Amino acid sequence: MSDDIRELVSLASRILGTADQGDLIWGHASARDPGGRGAWLKASGWSLDETTPDRVQLVDEDGTVLDGDGPRHSEYPIHTEILAARPDVGAVVHTHSPYAVALAAAGVELLPVSHAANYFVPPSVPRFTATADLILTRELGRRLAATLGQATAVFLVNHGVVTVGPDLRHATVAAVLLERAAHQQWLTRGFGGWPTWSGPEESLAKRGHIYHDQAVIQVWDHLVRRLGL
Ligand SMILES: [Zn+2]
Repeated sequence: MSDDIRELVSLASRILGTADQGDLIWGHASARDPGGRGAWLKASGWSLDETTPDRVQLVDEDGTVLDGDGPRHSEYPIHTEILAARPDVGAVVHTHSPYAVALAAAGVELLPVSHAANYFVPPSVPRFTATADLILTRELGRRLAATLGQATAVFLVNHGVVTVGPDLRHATVAAVLLERAAHQQWLTRGFGGWPTWSGPEESLAKRGHIYHDQAVIQVWDHLVRRLGL
C-alpha cells in the first residue's frame, strides 16, 4: 500500500513540474494516508519534477515524519489541516503556478472565459490574505482551510494556490486546470475587445458535461502518459 501511494504522489508531482507549476524546489502534493496517520507528502529539497517514490514521506499533524527519508516541507500544515477540516478531500496540491499567482495578486476574479475555469467557478475562488508568508503553523493551516471552505481551490494571495480533490488525480488535474484558466484569462484580456464569459448556470452545466469523473481520470492518464516514463 505505501508503495502505491508513494508512486501516486511521485507521479502527481512530476506532472505538476512538467506542467511548469514548479517554482525551482518549491511546491508540493500530498495524498491522505488510508490509515488516518497523516499525509503522504513530497519531501523537501527536490523540485516537483525530481520527485521519485523514495522522496515521498508520511507526515503527521504535528509535522513528525513517520515514514520516509530526507527533510520535510515546512508548509506541511497546508496538507494536514485541510485534510482534517475536509473529510471529503483525499489529496492536496500546493504550487506557485505563475499565471494563477499573478491573477490573484492583481486582485482579479477568475472568470470562465474558456472551459477550464468552469471547474471552479461558481463559487468565486476564495482568497487567503491573512499572510503571504509561508504556512508554517497548524493555526495558519486551519485558517487557510477555513478560507478554502467547501471550494476546490484557494488563492494564497502573493504566494501560490491550493487545489483539493477526492483523490490526488482530481487535485492534480484541478491545479493544471486552474493555471490554464488563469493563462487563458490573461490571453483574453490581451486582445482587448469586449470579453465574455459563462454565467453561473452555464458554468455548472459545463462542469457536468466536461469535467465529470471519467474525464478527469482520462486527463490524469493522459498527463501520466505525457511523462513518458
Ligand atoms: Zn508555497
